[in-house]
Amino acid sequence: MDGNGGSRFRRVCVFCGSNSGHRKVFSDAAIELGNELVKRKIALVYGGGSVGLMGLISQRVYDGGCHVLGVIPKALEPLEISGETVGEVKIVADMHERKAEMAKQADAFVALPGGYGTMEELLEMITWSQLGIHKKPVGLLNVDGYYNSLLSLFDNGVEEGFIKPSARHIVLSAPTAQELLTKMEQYTPLHDHVAPHESWHMEKLGDYPRDQNEQ
Ligand code: AMP
Repeated sequence: MDGNGGSRFRRVCVFCGSNSGHRKVFSDAAIELGNELVKRKIALVYGGGSVGLMGLISQRVYDGGCHVLGVIPKALEPLEISGETVGEVKIVADMHERKAEMAKQADAFVALPGGYGTMEELLEMITWSQLGIHKKPVGLLNVDGYYNSLLSLFDNGVEEGFIKPSARHIVLSAPTAQELLTKMEQYTPLHDHVAPHESWHMEKLGDYPRDQNEQ
């Protein structure tokens, strides 16, 4: 964070549950992450709508005066499926286009607790980093140990020879939003990419004008 409360990130993409989970600690964490983004003057990119933790964080960032961009596929757009999106809404054709658009718009990715959708989005951004498609930080907000077993699975992947130790460092994690964002701001990609950014077809992702690691 710079001296003015500003961040090296202009926009962070947050993946999170379309449900709120059974315990209040999860809703509190979504609001706390929203507060932390506002404090650092970071805009939010997310999947759109007002359901679950997605609704809580988007409302908080919007109320705090930061820009919110919801990227929603046509099929999920009806109000009865996703609810209302605060801020700017971008409607895209499908889930693939949504993910590419969210990746293009953001300088970093954070996963709050969530289900299959959140995990799939998180894992794809980790994989894209490993392949060299992007070099943006990926952080896991490990609220009350929710992701402990996933982190153990990654460690096991290293131990069993399926994940390179250098690639294990792609995934940053912390129990609070403040710690996580601070770690992410300090992140420098150290792992070996399978193929460099330049060798990928980037029509969908565009370039990354805000990705300071690329410059
Ligand atoms: P899940 O973790 O399974 O609840 O899925 C949440 C993730 O999938 C979010 O980050 C969204 O991008 C997407 N998603 C799932 N359900 C919805 C929904 N009803 N409206 C908008 N996005 C959704």
